[in-house]
Amino acid sequence: MTHKIAVLAGDGIGPEIVDEGLKVVKCLQADFGFDAEIEAAAIGGAGYDLAGDPLPEQTLALCRQADAILFGAIGGPQYDDLERELRPEKGLLRLRSSLSLFSNLRPAMLYPQLADASSLKNELVAGLDIMIVRELTGGIYFGQPRGIRHEIERIARSAFDISMLRNRKLCSVDKANVLEASELWREVVTRVAAEYPEVELSHMYVDNASMQLVRAPKQFDVIVTSNMFGDILSDTAAMLTGSIGMLPSASLDADGKGMYEPIHGSAPDIVGKGLANPLATILSLAMMLRYSLRQAELAGMIDTAVGNVLNQGFRTADIAGGAHSVSTAEMGDAVVAALRELG
Ligand code: NAD
Repeated sequence: MTHKIAVLAGDGIGPEIVDEGLKVVKCLQADFGFDAEIEAAAIGGAGYDLAGDPLPEQTLALCRQADAILFGAIGGPQYDDLERELRPEKGLLRLRSSLSLFSNLRPAMLYPQLADASSLKNELVAGLDIMIVRELTGGIYFGQPRGIRHEIERIARSAFDISMLRNRKLCSVDKANVLEASELWREVVTRVAAEYPEVELSHMYVDNASMQLVRAPKQFDVIVTSNMFGDILSDTAAMLTGSIGMLPSASLDADGKGMYEPIHGSAPDIVGKGLANPLATILSLAMMLRYSLRQAELAGMIDTAVGNVLNQGFRTADIAGGAHSVSTAEMGDAVVAALRELG
């Protein structure tokens, strides 16, 4: 089966990091029988430059047809004075809502080799691997509890599905002791749990969850929560790892189609210098293979290759801590070489 992948490199370091992701795709095609059709399109400032629109029509059409989207980053100082509707960020927001990408997956992973990058003690965070599933469509906080049941159901299902692909342990975070909407949240999540008897479900209030994330983050595997709580908790979790250039993310629709992107932005301060860390993008590609294209084995190989490259001592400047570093392209090449060794 041919997988259709739309590639939206965007602005700033977007094209640099996406190029390294595409090297990995080419390696999978050449050496591992991965069958994919890649098509690129403009978004953000690049979309504005090309077509006067941060989300050109042909880009949206391509994304609608694709099985998955690899996204780089958007934005830059040269676009800051544009009117709101034409700004790069608007292109990304419109794309997310046009494709109904309601389930936002934000992993916080810390490779043991990088444990010193965290502000927490080594033993608390080394090997950290948690996934926060955040409801992305709003609604829940601002609407009446009635009518949002289906929104809770679909994010709960999304989180249980992801738990099934991981360690089958799910923590639902709410504020059911105070908020009426949270009471409904807990009731619906508990009901959906009956469809997933293999998954161990627990509940936690959000204030406790924020404390536990910093006290003992490795107790969590998958966390599911609503839009606002997810916004805050996922940033806390990301910072536990201390390395913005390492973290991927995904936004999925109800059928598992998704957009995959690093959590960082377009980093205008380092554009064109070979300083950008491409690993968040390469790990986003691994998430795409796992969650949208159902190629778990290839996804696992990318994760392993990244781990091996770190073991071998390859570091881009952002994770080198002042020690010797390699360029964006050298890091991409190292991942490809490590992948080939796994073949
Ligand atoms: P940023 O994430 O672009 O950069 C923050 C800092 O992290 C910078 O010092 C940058 O050099 C560094 N950094 C980021 N990614 C890195 C990588 N892969 N390797 C090494 N270092 C990296 O955030 P910002 O500076 O606040 O925003 C810059 C632009 O990006 C703005 O226009 C903003 O709107 C946009 N932005 C886009 C997205 C997105 O595309 N999803 C997300 C956040 C910000």
